Amino acid sequence: MLHKKISGLVALGILFTLWVHAADDFSHVRKKMVENQIKARGIKDEKVLEALLKVPRHEFVPFLYRRLAYTDGPLPIGHGQTISQPYIVAIMTELLSLDGDEKVLEIGTGSGYQAAILGELAKEVYTIEILEPLANIAQKRLEQMGYTNIKVKCGDGFLGWQEYAPFDGIIVTCAPDQIPPILIEQLAEGGRMVIPVGESWQELKLVTKEDGKVITKDIIPVRFVPMIRKEQ
Ligand code: SAH
Repeated sequence: MLHKKISGLVALGILFTLWVHAADDFSHVRKKMVENQIKARGIKDEKVLEALLKVPRHEFVPFLYRRLAYTDGPLPIGHGQTISQPYIVAIMTELLSLDGDEKVLEIGTGSGYQAAILGELAKEVYTIEILEPLANIAQKRLEQMGYTNIKVKCGDGFLGWQEYAPFDGIIVTCAPDQIPPILIEQLAEGGRMVIPVGESWQELKLVTKEDGKVITKDIIPVRFVPMIRKEQ
């Protein structure tokens, strides 16, 4: 009896390993993701759609989750953090209205996926991650993928990245309970910031700066991991 149970478990284990390792045409599922989750929900910016079609999302998730990389939701990336749902990446990127000449700051590198999407669409990308192991993995991953226009730093994104400010675009992928004033200062004139603000649920906000005036617009309710502060 026990023997049978063990052989059953071993067989299941082998099947699971084969399933995870099987060479797969991820470009096919990626195309379906863009059609069904992104275009179907109204994302129109062709360049954003192209970037989502190009960047291999399965390379940004832990190996055991590769097969789930193109599903319609966030996924764990370790250290209690997640890679965002593809649609959220798409809408936040579209809101930045990138032409290709911009300098963009991201707060919350995580897996590096959002940074790679930005790397396809902007001239220079600066991304800050507070958790060192995640910052290191993302940096190596982006380097190996050949992104020479993305700089990763380990630090507290609440403080922005003064050395390279001002930024034409700022995207925050963790949630503070208020818009960090330093990020508004580091936003260029005519620049756009996309940021979730609030506690357990947040409102995704678009912040623009025109003639020195800061205008904030609510976009949609979202759910992000909280912004961690260094002293916490
Ligand atoms: N953009 C990521 C997903 C972000 S998850 C991706 O594409 O995978 C949010 C990330 O923000 C987590 O990795 C978390 O560690 C990081 N984070 C939280 N507080 C932060 C802070 N103050 N500064 C920088 N990064 C922070």
